[in-house]
Amino acid sequence: MIERIAQRDGWQCAYCGVEFKGRNDKRISLDHFHPRALGGGNGIRNLRLACFPCNTAKANAHPRSYRGLRMGLDGPESVWSRT
Ligand SMILES: [Zn+2]
Repeated sequence: MIERIAQRDGWQCAYCGVEFKGRNDKRISLDHFHPRALGGGNGIRNLRLACFPCNTAKANAHPRSYRGLRMGLDGPESVWSRT
């Protein structure tokens, strides 16, 4: 699963852009881009690679503040064009 996401998005964090060294990089975590609690699915289209600091920060965000965060991260294209 991680490899499939990396093939699509590259070996980097979807949020801060830090580069991973590969699938054994201990910083890699899988993030539900749209949280399950907000109706996000469990498929690969809703999964992103994220480093632990970003995943933790996002997981702890109140849904309202997370929605603001999402405004600037509206999909893989906009995420990758920012780097
Ligand atoms: Zn990150």
